[in-house]
Amino acid sequence: MARRDDWKAPPPRRLRAILERLRRRYGRPSTVVHGAPIDELVLTVLSQNTSDRNRDVAYERLRDRFPSLEAVREAPVEEIEEAIRPGGLAVTKAPRIQRILDAITATPAPAGIGSGEPGAMDLGWMADAPLDAARDYLCELPGVGRKTAACVLLFSYGRHDVPVDTHVHRVGTRLGLFREGASLEECHDEMLRLSRGADPIESHVALIRHGRRTCHARGPRCDECPLLRLCPYGRAARRSG
Ligand code: SF4
Repeated sequence: MARRDDWKAPPPRRLRAILERLRRRYGRPSTVVHGAPIDELVLTVLSQNTSDRNRDVAYERLRDRFPSLEAVREAPVEEIEEAIRPGGLAVTKAPRIQRILDAITATPAPAGIGSGEPGAMDLGWMADAPLDAARDYLCELPGVGRKTAACVLLFSYGRHDVPVDTHVHRVGTRLGLFREGASLEECHDEMLRLSRGADPIESHVALIRHGRRTCHARGPRCDECPLLRLCPYGRAARRSG
């Protein structure tokens, strides 16, 4: 793995070369944007410390039991807990969801952006607002950081941001895309720079797929990896036998 003192920021064409090889291995991701940023925020809270399946069950139960997200915001917290229990950590997640919904209600869009009613839960203005303004707004919401903000912007509206989750972080560090020891904030900035000229959804999904299927946290399968020639970590591991 590149040491902190010999790492050089790679050019964007390096990420494009990686994505091309991953596309040949796994195919091109076919994610569609859904235009529902507040649902995406709720989903990211529900996804903490659980599987995708349990997250989805919790989300479906929540949406089945409450007619709207406004109703979720106003409900007794115990009812939210009960609805999302299959997702685990319901006692923590239920008030967290309501705090986010309260904050969206209380926080208008930045001056000059958006035309929604004051107090409405509507983030539709993020579809075409300046990206930095939309990201800053999201990062001011309780418990929302760069990764969640990037998920909302990318999967709701296809805005150019790339969430760096644990797989993207590990795979990207091994491939030398990120400086060893870089903070998640720094990695997000790097991914924004590197993914210029690339599809941001593919940049995110392809690295996650590779992390799940080949570049495991323990025991990466470097011998069958299509990225071995591009990977300082894999080449060093091979040299050391
Ligand atoms: S060569 Fe090994 S460490 Fe590098 S990306 Fe492939 S599996 Fe991961």
